[in-house]
Amino acid sequence: MNTPAPPDAAADAPLEVFRQAVEQSALAISITDDKARILYANPAFQRVTGYVRDEVLGHNESLLSYRVTPRIVYESMWAQLLRQRAWNGLLVNKRKDGSRYLADLTITPVVDEAGHTSHYLGMHRDVTEVHRLERQVQNQKTLIESVVDAAQVAIVVLDEGERVVLDNQEYKKLIGDLGPEPAQTVLAALRAAMGGDFDKARQSGRGFSGREVSFPRRNAEPRWFVCAGSWIEELDASADAFYEPRRRHYMLLTLQDITPLKEREEAVRVNGLRALLAEQERIQSLREALAGAVFQLEGPFNMIAAAVKLLEVRGEAGGLVEGLREALRAGGEALDGLRAGIPSAAVEAVQAVNLNEVLRDVLRLATPRLLADGVVVEWRPETALPPVQGRVNQLCNLFKQLVENALDAIHDTRGGRRELRIATATFPDRVEVTVEDSGPGVPEAARIKAFEPFFTTKGADRQHIGMGLAVAREVVNGHGGFIDIEAPGEGRSGCLVRVQIPVGG
Ligand code: FAD
Repeated sequence: MNTPAPPDAAADAPLEVFRQAVEQSALAISITDDKARILYANPAFQRVTGYVRDEVLGHNESLLSYRVTPRIVYESMWAQLLRQRAWNGLLVNKRKDGSRYLADLTITPVVDEAGHTSHYLGMHRDVTEVHRLERQVQNQKTLIESVVDAAQVAIVVLDEGERVVLDNQEYKKLIGDLGPEPAQTVLAALRAAMGGDFDKARQSGRGFSGREVSFPRRNAEPRWFVCAGSWIEELDASADAFYEPRRRHYMLLTLQDITPLKEREEAVRVNGLRALLAEQERIQSLREALAGAVFQLEGPFNMIAAAVKLLEVRGEAGGLVEGLREALRAGGEALDGLRAGIPSAAVEAVQAVNLNEVLRDVLRLATPRLLADGVVVEWRPETALPPVQGRVNQLCNLFKQLVENALDAIHDTRGGRRELRIATATFPDRVEVTVEDSGPGVPEAARIKAFEPFFTTKGADRQHIGMGLAVAREVVNGHGGFIDIEAPGEGRSGCLVRVQIPVGG
């Protein structure tokens, strides 16, 4: 409701002042009769519309209409005016020269002493440019949002409290895959990886790029992202910051999914490891087979040597002794030939080895077989496992051998459980690995013999020469460790191999 001016003040102001104020106003002002016929227009009206005063006097204000303003706008305008209420709105107007402009118009009914609307006061200004700028900002916002949304990388903007204020479709997909607010997890991982460099990057405003972080996932390979971050400033748009600009800081974080690339790299690494282990295994079994053959031949060779010695002591000579001497010489040459043919063991440097990682690799290598045999794996790694000082390839071969033995044993079982349990544990001075299978188990009497060369419970048709556990024991001994075979506890059947490796090496 309009508050009337105090009667005294209005009476004090000379009419000429009112007239001049309206004449000199920067707003386009017109006064109409109650049918909207123009009775007066000020110079600003002329400047805005292009019509001189005499050209509009007596005409309806509709002469300014470009005829694209929806009828409903005029209807609601007039409905408001007929209730003797002021109306404000935007109309598309046409100047005298035919050009269009957007008018921000306020119409106020002038009510006479009898309570009737005698006139209307219209005030308007050209807001075309303001509207153009607003639209431009809106269009740019829409354009930026579409580009950001179409980007193949996840983009998220965080405020100073690290709350998400803007994100794109790719980021929303990550929420679906990885749970609420992956940005928080990424920031925690980045802070852990970058240490003090994270805050330095923020303070300098330089940002960072090319940082890789991984998302561990339950029962799945981790997801990998390469991240870039930059800090951006925005001026506070509130009215109270108009004369004292305040800055707000935001962080722009981009996450590019490189999981497929990492998986390919990992596959190449595992394949390389598989080839290396196969080669080492081939050399090792050749070494063991030749050493075993030498060992087996040394028995009869020594017996012949003893027999020759005995015959020589008795002073016997002749064809038999000569024949035996010849056999001894030929046998000695054959043995030397075999010894010379034993390939030398690969020299490997001792380094800090995390047995959890070794076992993970072994399980990766065994995955095709585990799937083919339908074996359920229970993998329980100790979370903070200290490293052991060891030869990584030898240790890899050791556990590969134990897992393969376990899978052979499971393969031989008909029906029932098909389970492989692998666990690691920490003791003050050593790390323990247990490999347990649900196979037929090893009878107590055979548990010590199982580590002897050429001992096998498997048929010769399976190409097992019984060197696996002998080699395994050699590797464990080489690391100053301990290995034995037990029955699994808790009423389970099968075989449990326990390996302990000292932490000090
Ligand atoms: P009209 O036939 O004039 O009217 C459209 C609708 O409004 C109809 O539903 C009709 O019933 C209703 N209506 C019209 N006149 C009256 C009335 N006197 N009393 C009750 N209902 C009525 N229009 C512009 O396009 N640009 C302007 O800059 C502009 N400035 C104006 C300034 C003032 C002070 C006033 C009073 C009006 C102004 N108008 C302006 C409105 C203008 O008078 C027309 O109503 C409008 O242009 C539509 O014209 P029209 O010929 O299309 O439709």
